[in-house]
Amino acid sequence: MSNPHSYSPAAPAAQATGATSLWMSLIYRPAINAALLGSAVFALCLFGIFSRTGGDLASYWPANAFLLGILIRYPHFSHRWAWIAAAAGYFLADAITGSSLSKNVLLNLANLSGVAVGYWIFHRAERSMNRLQTTSSVLYMLMAIVGASAMSGLLGAVAMIHLFNDTVLKGFAIWFATELVNYIGFLPLLLSIPSRKQFPSQPLRWLARQITIEKVSPAIALVLSAVFGHMVGGPGAVAFTIPALMWCAVSYSLFTTAFITFWVSAWSLISIIVNTLTDSHGVLNRDLVMSVRMGLSLVMLTPIMIGSVMVANRALVNRLKVLADHDELTNLPNRRAFLEASTSALQRLKERLESCSVLMIDIDHFKSVNDRFGHAAGDDVLRRLGQLFGECLRRQDIVGRLGGEEFAVFMPRASAADALQVAESIRISLEVTPITVPGQSQPLLCTVSIGLASDRLSTVTLDTMLVRADQCLYKAKQQGRNRVIQVSISD
Ligand code: GH3
Ligand code: MG
Ligand code: MG
Repeated sequence: MSNPHSYSPAAPAAQATGATSLWMSLIYRPAINAALLGSAVFALCLFGIFSRTGGDLASYWPANAFLLGILIRYPHFSHRWAWIAAAAGYFLADAITGSSLSKNVLLNLANLSGVAVGYWIFHRAERSMNRLQTTSSVLYMLMAIVGASAMSGLLGAVAMIHLFNDTVLKGFAIWFATELVNYIGFLPLLLSIPSRKQFPSQPLRWLARQITIEKVSPAIALVLSAVFGHMVGGPGAVAFTIPALMWCAVSYSLFTTAFITFWVSAWSLISIIVNTLTDSHGVLNRDLVMSVRMGLSLVMLTPIMIGSVMVANRALVNRLKVLADHDELTNLPNRRAFLEASTSALQRLKERLESCSVLMIDIDHFKSVNDRFGHAAGDDVLRRLGQLFGECLRRQDIVGRLGGEEFAVFMPRASAADALQVAESIRISLEVTPITVPGQSQPLLCTVSIGLASDRLSTVTLDTMLVRADQCLYKAKQQGRNRVIQVSISD
């Protein structure tokens, strides 16, 4: 019988913990996130409002792209409180800068409805699309941006008729183009922000590793082509940076590419607008500005597109590499991968004159296991042995399936005594592990024979180590199997 007093003191504590975590997840975190998002939207709206020239629309309005980007990139922000706080940020910014109530409501309804449409379109896509990780994701992002810009454009047109006596078409065109430019400039940057585990654990070391000719050349080419474009001038200057941007896109991460592209497009816009789109009195041709802005933004999608193709490509290459290096049945490195990793590990040990050991492991009478219990049961034994390696070996040991029922382990900095201990633990673990076979009343028990070669100063080649370990394995088989035989090479 359990004693009720033994657990009752813990119950209120457990309830309190449960209540605390409920409060944290339902109220505290959403409230903090909403407050952060609302404040950021408020600040960006103020920034946009101060870029308004002569009572007109803002020339730079990053708030909508920011809000959409954060809600998509960090889905835990997308709580109804966050939407309410963002709406408050929009309205408050206009209210304190003296906009009339009707202007405030009309402009911000246009802003929020665009973000809502973009969010709705993005929300229908797979998660990898939202992070620009697939080849078609940039096109999908463009579709969401066009949807968001068109929605803002529709409500914005109403606002423009009411506030500035514009025509429907002109009102729509201005809103649509401005939204498009802002979204294309800012959204890829937000969506490609690396996750916490993608950040280098030692940023300074990582940065130092980046300073190589190969890594720095694309950035240098970009700066040179931008300067050259600025010197030559004219509308053609838009295209000067494109080859260097492509080079950056295939050399750097997607986030770095988006970051560079954002600044290059901003710089190009300013440089071109100042240099070429003003008349002799310094007055801007607004239609030309709009055309250049939109054209440049679309051109700048190309490096982002290449960047996301590279992400998909790198993921594919990594996956193929894992497949090429691993044995499908046991998931252990195959012969080639084992030899490659062990050869380079041995090279490092040789330089420091440190010890190493090699195990050659072969399952005993495995042919008869297959004959008596079937090939599938034999496969189970191989898998089980694969798991045992994970349990018995040290982190730095390198294991591989050389073929059939033969495995090898390379053990850096393992003396003969250390290696013998590990070899024995593998042998005994398999010996005492019954493997149940479907349709058989008796579980299957298997053993292994192990040959072990150790070298105190790592002076010989990997081949020699493997041959010597194999000779020991042969002896272990001859002496009755289920045993470890060892040899020390440089003693
Ligand atoms: P010994 O104790 O001398 O090593 O005897 P053995 O029967 O283990 O050695 P032998 O080399 O004669 O047989 C190895 C067997 O391993 C033959 C082959 O059918 C089996 N084998 C090789 N690869 C696999 C595999 O992937 N799955 C299964 N189930 N069996 C395999
Ligand atoms: Mg064999
Ligand atoms: Mg065998």
